[in-house]
Amino acid sequence: MLSDPLLFAVCAALLGLCVGSFLNVVIHRLPKMMEQQWRAECAELSAQEAPAVESYNLIVPRSACPSCKRPISALENIPLLSWMVLRGQCAGCKTAISPRYPAVEALSAALSAYVAWHFGFGVAAIGALLFTWAMIALTFIDLDTFYLPDSITLPLLWLGLLFNIVGIYTPLAGAVIGAAAGYLSLWGVYWIFKWATGKEGMGYGDFKLLAAIGAWLGWQMLPLTILLSSLVGAVIGIGLIVFAGRGRSVPIPFGPYLAIAGMIALLHGPALTSAWFGPL
Ligand SMILES: [Zn+2]
Repeated sequence: MLSDPLLFAVCAALLGLCVGSFLNVVIHRLPKMMEQQWRAECAELSAQEAPAVESYNLIVPRSACPSCKRPISALENIPLLSWMVLRGQCAGCKTAISPRYPAVEALSAALSAYVAWHFGFGVAAIGALLFTWAMIALTFIDLDTFYLPDSITLPLLWLGLLFNIVGIYTPLAGAVIGAAAGYLSLWGVYWIFKWATGKEGMGYGDFKLLAAIGAWLGWQMLPLTILLSSLVGAVIGIGLIVFAGRGRSVPIPFGPYLAIAGMIALLHGPALTSAWFGPL
């Protein structure tokens, strides 16, 4: 794999396909696990008896059809292929299975292959794959629920700093400053926006996500990341209003734009910044 980047990209695509299948579970279950935990904590605070719940996490219970509760067998759980063979229907009750499941798997496979190809075999590629999978999970969780779970953003931040101890993506000093500046810059925007309009434009999850991106890529990539996320946000936001007839006041999560911008900065940040701002 050291000498054959194509072989590495193909291996990464297959791995990305399997990870994408797991990401579907994370995207579906993590928000429910968070809500379950909050309910338990609320009950504890108000000295009520915690509601009895069946154990629910990323491993148990096994995946089942939401309609007929039929457990999904290993053969029906092959990424991409199973969905195509079953023609997007439950094998038991023929209820349609959302095309988003194979779409997430395909996206994960494609991005994994591209990241592997871009970085070549090595530590940088392994870290970049972890970063990529986290961005996919955060994007879809935020789209569904407006959450950016701490259980993803905070470990991602620490992991970025750890990789940069040996300067895999940026020197450590730049990574530490990037984490702090990433958090504080959006925190500042949030409060200015709140004072000016009385509304909340972002959530604390957005600050933590930008802090994580700063920890991975260094403070030098933050202006580009914010610029790109605003650009992507404006294009998609205007598109939704014009083509989908979406109202102007319908809230749109900001996390996906940050995640897309983070991916672009990871892959092409140095080239883009030196083209726009001159070499840093
Ligand atoms: Zn079914």
